[in-house]
Amino acid sequence: MKTLVANWKMHVGIRESAALARAALLALRGRAHAPDVVVCPPFTALADVHKIVARSHVAVGAQDLFWEETGAFTGEISPRMVAETGAAYAIVGHSERRRLFGETDETVGKKTAAALAHRLTPVVCVGETAEERAAGRTEAVIGRQLRAAFASAALHEGSRVLIAYEPVWAIGSGHPASPQDAVAAHAFLRRVFRDEVKGGGRAREGVLYGGSVDADNAFALLREDEIDGILIGGASLNAAQFTAIVAAAGDVLEGLASRS
Ligand code: PEP
Repeated sequence: MKTLVANWKMHVGIRESAALARAALLALRGRAHAPDVVVCPPFTALADVHKIVARSHVAVGAQDLFWEETGAFTGEISPRMVAETGAAYAIVGHSERRRLFGETDETVGKKTAAALAHRLTPVVCVGETAEERAAGRTEAVIGRQLRAAFASAALHEGSRVLIAYEPVWAIGSGHPASPQDAVAAHAFLRRVFRDEVKGGGRAREGVLYGGSVDADNAFALLREDEIDGILIGGASLNAAQFTAIVAAAGDVLEGLASRS
């Protein structure tokens, strides 16, 4: 299966989120081979978007959450509140949150654990900066981020987690990682997750790529077996682009079905 996660960030309000959600439903309509789609609107639109996509193959995710369940935490949104909207996923550790809002490996770990405890599928973002990449530190950085994200997480039998490899230099830059570089990073992250995080447990992981994916490069990334899906920022705000990415994923899935 291939999974597409659309991160609409703070670009859209309730009405625009509803329109994008309807466009996502249309993009999937009538497709014999369709990817799983998760749309992540701002908190304020979660419940409305969930109503629109209920009983479809489109799921809803939050862009962040706090780790406590209730309490005096002005401005925060708890995992229980996210789940209450009907959302089933939560992005954690996005590089914008790490860079702009002081998120650390430790807070990402608390959020991942809290999401899993509330049966939300975390979409854990990891990625190196351009400087770290130039210094040959990609694996050291993303390995550290991944281990920290799951340091206190309780993975259940049926837990599903998504790990998004999002090189910071590729986000919003128009310069995605090459499929070969993404595959190498994904293979490394999968190995770390399987050997050091999941141990003997039965949790299932998907490793997504994110960073400047658009309708032109989605197929080349998605056709790689190591790439279980993509996290899409800018291109997910354009219904035509997003529809073309859904079609690219459908083509890859059709190819996979004819291979088996
Ligand atoms: C992102 O912000 O997670 C992202 C992948 O953005 P973009 O697709 O715009 O690079």
